Amino acid sequence: MRMPIIAGNWKMYTTPAEARKLVLDMLPALDKVEGVDKLLCPPFVSLLLLKELLKDTSIRLGAQNMYFEVKGAYTGEISPLMLVELCHFVILGHSERRWYFGENDRLINNKIKSALSHKLIPILCVGERLRERESGRAQEVISNQLYAGLSDVATSSEIVIAYEPVWAIGTGKAATSKQAADTIKFIRDTLASIWDGRRAQEIRILYGGSVTGENITELVSQSEIDGALVGGASLRPEEFVSIVSQAAKIKGKSII
Ligand code: PEP
Repeated sequence: MRMPIIAGNWKMYTTPAEARKLVLDMLPALDKVEGVDKLLCPPFVSLLLLKELLKDTSIRLGAQNMYFEVKGAYTGEISPLMLVELCHFVILGHSERRWYFGENDRLINNKIKSALSHKLIPILCVGERLRERESGRAQEVISNQLYAGLSDVATSSEIVIAYEPVWAIGTGKAATSKQAADTIKFIRDTLASIWDGRRAQEIRILYGGSVTGENITELVSQSEIDGALVGGASLRPEEFVSIVSQAAKIKGKSII
């Protein structure tokens, strides 16, 4: 059975002082929720602080990006060697990185392989833009992102996939649970072709894009959807705790 995950992507929000307050506001309630992996991905500058604050809790940490080289003259970049002392997960290939910072599948593939070789768990984001969905090309785009992003990645690798349709991120227009479940089923079938059917069944695939306390129950009620990557709503402590609790309630039934 796949353990569900709810991950909060804080994006470029929160100064270290704000991050401290945010985590302390959600910590008591969040720590108590069982049956779901809880993950916070703050900006790099707050990882160390959150590592200390989350010591001896059930909440895990992730970074939002990294470079693939281990060290060197790469001004402004953060390496896997640095991250592995601070967190367990790293989001890679987020659409904001692809479209605002020009990251391509080849770079993302290098980052995935580098993260894995340093025992970081990558969360590989894939998803189509609106015009690609409207022109019937969503599956082709996602399939290309998966084949390229996972090129030369071993079948046994511990990795999480997030399906994040670009048109749903930060827009308030989430995919319907059927759209999300159908696409995640397609992603799982594609993973079966890249690796094998058994491995594909073990991989956790999340939905991301305008997830809120209002729509999470319907989304995670779909057996294909193993949790969510949450942006905006992860910055609202009560709502994030509610999202995590609802996911635990729905998915908990299938774990027992
Ligand atoms: C995200 O940042 O990955 C995301 C899904 O954002 P939002 O929930 O705000 O749409």
